[in-house]
Amino acid sequence: ADGARVPALVIGTGYGGSVAALRLAQAGVDVQMIEMGMSWDTPGSDGKIFPKVTTPDYRSFWLRTRTKAPLSNFLGFPIDKDVPKYTGILDAEDFAGITVYQGRGVGGGSLVNGGMAVTPKRANFAAVLPSVNADEMYDTYYPRANAGLGVGMIDPAWFDTADCYQFSRVGRKHAQRSGFAWTFVPDVYDWDYMKQEAAGTATKSALAGEILYGNNHGKKSLVQTYLAQAKATGRVAISALHKVTSVSPAAGGGYTVTIDQINTTGDTVATKTVTADRVFFAAGSVGTSKLLVKLKATGALPNLNGEVGKGWGENGNVMCGRANHMWDPTGKLQSTIPCSGIDNWDAGGAFAEVAPLPTGIETYASFYLSITKNPNRAEFTWNAATGKAELSWQTAWKQPSISMAKTIFDKINSKEGTIYRTDLFGANKIWNDTLTYHPLGGAVLNKATDNYGRLHGYTGLYVIDGALIPGNASVNPFVTITALAERNIEKIIATDLP
Ligand code: FAD
Repeated sequence: ADGARVPALVIGTGYGGSVAALRLAQAGVDVQMIEMGMSWDTPGSDGKIFPKVTTPDYRSFWLRTRTKAPLSNFLGFPIDKDVPKYTGILDAEDFAGITVYQGRGVGGGSLVNGGMAVTPKRANFAAVLPSVNADEMYDTYYPRANAGLGVGMIDPAWFDTADCYQFSRVGRKHAQRSGFAWTFVPDVYDWDYMKQEAAGTATKSALAGEILYGNNHGKKSLVQTYLAQAKATGRVAISALHKVTSVSPAAGGGYTVTIDQINTTGDTVATKTVTADRVFFAAGSVGTSKLLVKLKATGALPNLNGEVGKGWGENGNVMCGRANHMWDPTGKLQSTIPCSGIDNWDAGGAFAEVAPLPTGIETYASFYLSITKNPNRAEFTWNAATGKAELSWQTAWKQPSISMAKTIFDKINSKEGTIYRTDLFGANKIWNDTLTYHPLGGAVLNKATDNYGRLHGYTGLYVIDGALIPGNASVNPFVTITALAERNIEKIIATDLP
């Protein structure tokens, strides 16, 4: 409520925020969570909370009047369409050189993502975050995160026969014939539930084209895991459709947090202030970075250091498709949940997930999202004239990602006598090099913060989300974000709480 005082305020309800809220509450601290998106608990007129990926509607995009699907074209036809402006679930946030896709709503990115739950190879983690004790991460915090998230693996025997994974089996065959390591990838989707979908005994979700705009069944988002546990403590309150716009030191100690309450067309309907003893920035890499550079530049938090806004990367994301021969159909029915990847990280700097194209028709296409070791890093800065945060990323900075992904797909194409698809991302465009699903960095651990996420310059302000990770995680990032949050909050509770 307006004017309230709270011991801990968490900005955002994604992975970092959910871990912080649960562990603080378990330690006896009352937590107020603030989330700009909706709470996604009420069905629309079709009886479903979330629409399918093939039929986007007002629920699909954050305050856009036209959809912006990651695959913009198919067989030469544009897919995007006009929709009413609404606080929908997927934000395609446009910066000058890149579109950053993010989840909006209680649960953050866990609402929209594919649920691929990958623990990186230890050497790769150590290279990304050298100041973190890797023994502790692999002995304690990665296992804790995997358990908390409900990570599981597809049954390999079922994989070999399921119609809905023919696309992955084709991906495996082609990877192995070119000598690449192919691996199963764990996921938070309930694999037993998916078997029931395939058997026709449960309402379909992964097998009914649900992904990107939410899953109505089967996927364990944070709402079913960390946030459910957090709510059960009775100490966590969540305000949805509330957006934090400022944090500054309060006269009597603690911080004054300014919050806009918005309606479903994005208009501010009320402005509130809350005083918090401690504030956790968990608005995601982009949300946290934007807030911090604004608060430093506008004088709300002038003592933040010069690392704020820096070290941002896109986890080397790049997409491509391959056109298979007629004897390699990828299947009419495709599960929306990826379950496998091609690992060429050490030799070529690329880890490619074999992704579905759940169109409902045979496409003879193999589709991949590659995570690459792109070394380029961008910076957020505050533009006082426009009143907006800007990101310095340039489209050309994806070239290393393309080169690294080509170490896999040029070889497969040459071995199979196949070519790249040129119809998926616009006319004659092979690589989707204009987006990321994996924003990371902007308030890097041990630079903008100390080695546990305490922001330099202010006691009681913390960063606890993907902003801490310097631009690349070597694999899909949410398990690492969760594990790092588990590590940091344990230390913060042990040493900072009275
Ligand atoms: P987020 O999960 O982004 O949470 C931040 C929250 O803060 C959001 O809910 C946001 O609305 C809210 N917020 C922002 N600003 C404010 C503000 N000012 N006031 C109030 N609230 C605010 N990762 C994987 O590991 N595996 C995958 O398979 C995978 N697939 C993906 C697919 C898609 C389409 C996308 C978009 C992402 C995918 N990711 C995947 C990435 C993963 O979802 C993110 O890395 C993860 O969600 C980031 O966690 P976070 O805690 O940093 O922030």
